[in-house]
Amino acid sequence: MAQPSHRIIVIGGGAAGFMAAISSKTHHPGAEVLLLEKSTKWLSKVRISGGGRCNVTHACPEPRKLARHYPRGEAFLRKVLTAWGQPQAVAWFAAHGVLLKTEADGRMFPVTDDSSTVIDALQSAATSLGVQARLNCRVQRLGRIDDGWTVITDHEHLTAQRDRGHGRIAQG
Ligand SMILES: Cc1cc2nc3c(=O)[nH]c(=O)nc-3n(C[C@H](O)[C@H](O)[C@H](O)COP(=O)(O)OP(=O)(O)OC[C@H]3O[C@@H](n4cnc5c(N)ncnc54)[C@H](O)[C@@H]3O)c2cc1C
Repeated sequence: MAQPSHRIIVIGGGAAGFMAAISSKTHHPGAEVLLLEKSTKWLSKVRISGGGRCNVTHACPEPRKLARHYPRGEAFLRKVLTAWGQPQAVAWFAAHGVLLKTEADGRMFPVTDDSSTVIDALQSAATSLGVQARLNCRVQRLGRIDDGWTVITDHEHLTAQRDRGHGRIAQG
């Protein structure tokens, strides 16, 4: 098997961490992507989200309009939602087997009304891409090194190296 070109470490196995790890591996297939979670379970907040149904997004495809509904950070969110917003989220979940339905108030849930559908999709996307995921792995400290970062966990010192001048570390 080919040696990985570099290592990307994502800290936190929640919704953000899973998407960061999936996106990292999608865009850097040659890299080793490690997803570190301090607890014994992945995606535990997603499981309880939306009363156990997971309110995935809102039926508002227009980034400017959607960003207006966030109490803080509207300008930042406008940029983020323009790059990857509601239509992309709906399409991504559909491509990964999660069909969404829209309720009368615009909230969008999986048609199964079950957050585990979302959890299964995120886990299976990460696994099939080859993301290496570790539970019971609390990050204690980060440090800079010449060519990247050290990530100090309860059990070990890991390094995430720069690749051709790009240091990468993601907080989930
Ligand atoms: C009751 C409830 C209902 C909700 N309903 C919805 C909803 O329907 N729709 C919606 O969009 N949002 C909902 N939310 C909000 C939603 O849960 C969050 O937006 C989402 O889960 C945040 O994901 P995250 O990955 O940013 O953070 P988290 O889910 O908090 O993930 C962070 C992860 O990082 C891990 N971690 C932290 N520190 C370390 C460390 N040092 N080392 C290793 N791992 C670490 C944590 O254990 C955790 O697993 C709800 C929240 C709650 C509490």
